[in-house]
Amino acid sequence: MMNSVTIRQALEFIGLLSTSPSNPYNLCNTFGIEVIDNEPINKDGYLVCDRGCKLIFISSNITNRHRKKFIISHELGHFLLHREKLYCCTDISEIGISQINSNCQENEANYFASEYLLPQEQLLRMLPHESIRFSDIFKIAAHFDVSVTMAAMKATRLSNAEDEILLCYKGQQLKWFSSGDTGLCYKMLPQKCPVDLTRAPLEVDIGGVWDTLYEGTVHQEVFNPFEDQRLVLLSGTRCL
Ligand SMILES: [Zn+2]
Repeated sequence: MMNSVTIRQALEFIGLLSTSPSNPYNLCNTFGIEVIDNEPINKDGYLVCDRGCKLIFISSNITNRHRKKFIISHELGHFLLHREKLYCCTDISEIGISQINSNCQENEANYFASEYLLPQEQLLRMLPHESIRFSDIFKIAAHFDVSVTMAAMKATRLSNAEDEILLCYKGQQLKWFSSGDTGLCYKMLPQKCPVDLTRAPLEVDIGGVWDTLYEGTVHQEVFNPFEDQRLVLLSGTRCL
């Protein structure tokens, strides 16, 4: 990844200009960047910087408010960190930052957007000392005005208790996960969810289901961010 000092400096610089919670639309105004979001372009977003013209395009197909904020912040990352005239970005993802992406500049722009919208230092101050619950995550998402998914992913990764595992299933199939346990890898997790997520209660203490990950009873919470995706948040005594 690019010198993380450079990303940190860019964030400190805009920190002097911006308000809390971060508002990328205001930041675009400050930099004289026009945002165009009423064209159904076939990418998530474009940044165009040429001969004094500064434009960010976001596809009109993207209607989710938090996703739009993330994409504009991603393009602002290119504007501040990189010096090309044109960026065309597909599959911009709040989740992308947790995975290996071959394109370094895309990674950097995602990292920038994530830190701009949900700064790690401020997030750490809001984390509980015990295991994180969705009630904590909802507060964090509301405070920073970001998606529950992004708040959940980042909070579980930075957890004080370090026993939580956040799993995202599409249907019953594992899509991605997040955890403070850096030794945990995708292959170690149930690829097919062992509980029927269409019937799972929002909150339950259960045993015998997550035995490869936890000993005894597990606290399990389920949240449905959209469509057939389910976030499953587990906490309890981890198997060593
Ligand atoms: Zn990009």
